[in-house]
Order: sequence, then structure tokens, then C-alpha cells
Amino acid sequence: MDWSLRACGRRGHLTYRPTETDLADRLTADTAIGTVWRCLRCGDFVLSEPKLTGPANEAPIVLRGPALRDAVILRLLSAERAIRGLLLLLAAYGVFEFRTVKGSLQMAFEQYLPLVKPLADQIGYDLTNAGPRCG
Ligand SMILES: [Zn+2]
Repeated sequence: MDWSLRACGRRGHLTYRPTETDLADRLTADTAIGTVWRCLRCGDFVLSEPKLTGPANEAPIVLRGPALRDAVILRLLSAERAIRGLLLLLAAYGVFEFRTVKGSLQMAFEQYLPLVKPLADQIGYDLTNAGPRCG
């Protein structure tokens, strides 16, 4: 998978016109249909005016190739960690909220255990050691 093309597909190509003419000449080409500019991310030539312009040392730093792939993976991992943390907070809130009703949870568990036991037996799960611990 070409991560650069994927990013350009989502955000559009990133073209830049440096004020230095020798560098600008390396990033552009004249074609029969018009002037094309090279995308800083994917390297394709795009038929449009450059999105940004300025000195070369102020050109945007664009992630591409393996660095872009790593950035996407790191974002996915951070989102997974955020979701995991949120679930942990919800579990902690549940424990805190229901800490005074341990007895009723135990009664509900014992009431519904016979209903779930045939299913648990079929999937090979031992329900006798599962459930809330009181005491
Ligand atoms: Zn591009």
C-alpha cells in the first residue's frame, strides 16, 4: 500500500512553490495542458497552481513513505489506548457505583446462573468459579 497516495487522496496533493527559481524549476514542468507542480508527499505532478508558496526553508515538512506509515500506525495505537483507558475508567466507575450492592449482584448472579449454565457447558466455560466475589 502506498501511504503517500492514500494521504493525498484524503487531504489532497501538497504542492509548494519555493521563491528560489532554481528550486521552483525542479518542482514544475510545462506540459501541453498546462503547468504541473510536483506534490511534496507523493511525488506526482499535479495540474494546478501550488497550494503554498514561500522560501524553501519554510516549506512544510511532509511525512511520506515509511515515516507516514509509522505515523498512521502510531495514531491507531494511540486511539486504541484511549479507548482502552476509557473502558477502564467506565469499569472503575461501575465498581465504585455498585460497591454497596454486592449482595444484590450476588443474588442476581445466582438467580441467572441456571439459565446460562447450559450455554456455558456447551462452550466449555466453568461458571462455578465465575461471578462476583463477596467478602
Ligand atoms: Zn500527492
